Amino acid sequence: MRLIHETGWAATPTTVEQPLTGDIDCDVVVIGGGGGGMSAALRLADKGVDVVLLEAKTLGWGASSRNAGYITNSIAADPELLGLLLKPERLRNLYRYAENAVHFAEGAISRHGIDCGYQSEGIVMAAVSKGQLRHARRNAKVLADAGSSAEFIEGPEAGLPQGFLGGMREGVGGTLNPGEFVLGLRAATIASDVRVYEHTPAHDVTDTGGGVTVDTPEGRVRARKALLTTNAYSAGLSIAPKNLATPVWTSLVETEPVAPERLDEIGWTSRAPMVTLHMILESYRVTPRGTIVFGTRRVQTGRNPLPDRTPARNVADDLVRGFHDRFPGLRDIEPQKAWGGWIGMSSTWLPVAGEASDNVLYSLACNGHGFAQAQYVGHLLADRICDAPLHDDLAAIWRGRKRFRPSLVSGPVLHAGWLADRASDRLAALTK
Ligand SMILES: Cc1cc2nc3c(=O)[nH]c(=O)nc-3n(C[C@H](O)[C@H](O)[C@H](O)COP(=O)(O)OP(=O)(O)OC[C@H]3O[C@@H](n4cnc5c(N)ncnc54)[C@H](O)[C@@H]3O)c2cc1C
Repeated sequence: MRLIHETGWAATPTTVEQPLTGDIDCDVVVIGGGGGGMSAALRLADKGVDVVLLEAKTLGWGASSRNAGYITNSIAADPELLGLLLKPERLRNLYRYAENAVHFAEGAISRHGIDCGYQSEGIVMAAVSKGQLRHARRNAKVLADAGSSAEFIEGPEAGLPQGFLGGMREGVGGTLNPGEFVLGLRAATIASDVRVYEHTPAHDVTDTGGGVTVDTPEGRVRARKALLTTNAYSAGLSIAPKNLATPVWTSLVETEPVAPERLDEIGWTSRAPMVTLHMILESYRVTPRGTIVFGTRRVQTGRNPLPDRTPARNVADDLVRGFHDRFPGLRDIEPQKAWGGWIGMSSTWLPVAGEASDNVLYSLACNGHGFAQAQYVGHLLADRICDAPLHDDLAAIWRGRKRFRPSLVSGPVLHAGWLADRASDRLAALTK
């Protein structure tokens, strides 16, 4: 199994947009060209705003091209826990926002004509133990009460692989190839009126009161307003709210192609993409190229400046061990490569957007579930920066100037979560 630095989903771009040299002026500068930043910049350009997009590497280099490719209306925090902690109206608003994000991302695929193998098949939060199955049933009820499309499924008719007892199927969303999607969105952004500068990291962002200046290695941007869409890298900029995001490295493995009849033999007749209900999830999906991509389990925190890195060998090996345990009928299938990316965890475990200062807005719609949400929030923030009233879906995650508590996410806590998950696996095996 090769451990690679770049995304395993698609080739990296063959051309690079010029870096910024010298001083320029614009209306709005967007910092960070992932799905969120590109979506925001495209919206601004559509509205006739003079917009500059700065990206430290190439557009889509971050989590947006590296993720597992689930277009999901999940929010990182467990639905049952959210049901206990949040008022019913707040929960309804959050799930409406997340479901609209799914539809927004689907719209982006057709709007830009991106060929990325999107399958609108829903996603199953799948149970590998009786305890998880009960949990899935409770989650389905919380989501139904919150007006979200989800159903509880169980037994062989669910078409899940042997060992998966059932779960909660989200009624919207599905899977795609995020590498191909991001290449398509990058092409659309470059072809638009957005002024794109790649290999241009923002080193410093200053709100001068009358506007914003952004310093880069070889230039400076002066703008009326700025938008931070830097995700896990946000803490690298001193203007970002303190404790906004804890960076967490998350890894994926891809196997060699698996013959469809092998998937039928193990009972995965639905081919439904799955995430388990562990404290730290496991994900398993079939890709359009016939391989299986699986991931997460062991995650690791990091500090800004975040390095470009590969998954650690022991983390990738643990993922393969998990794959063998869950799919004993596919033990002969070889893992071929592993890659990963930085996700940004907010201290509330919820997606957030707000104001870093008078002229600088930020979003952090991630927590490992933000592929669709980051794009949607970028779009809504673009409207907001043009003085539109706060959209109901943006209001659902809006923090304004509120501060963030220090995050509980740390290396030892994440390791304890992984240990607790393995203990629950052993218990489930004993009580089968
Ligand atoms: C392994 C993995 C699996 C995941 N699986 C899923 C999934 O299946 N479904 C899902 O919904 N979500 C998933 N996620 C999360 C999802 O990918 C992210 O929530 C989403 O892509 C975030 O988009 P973004 O635009 O906010 O950030 P990013 O895509 O991370 O983009 C941020 C960009 O900002 C740039 N940047 C940073 N600092 C600066 C600076 N100072 N100046 C200029 N540019 C800068 C970076 O280079 C980067 O390109 C996963 C993430 C990972 C890593």
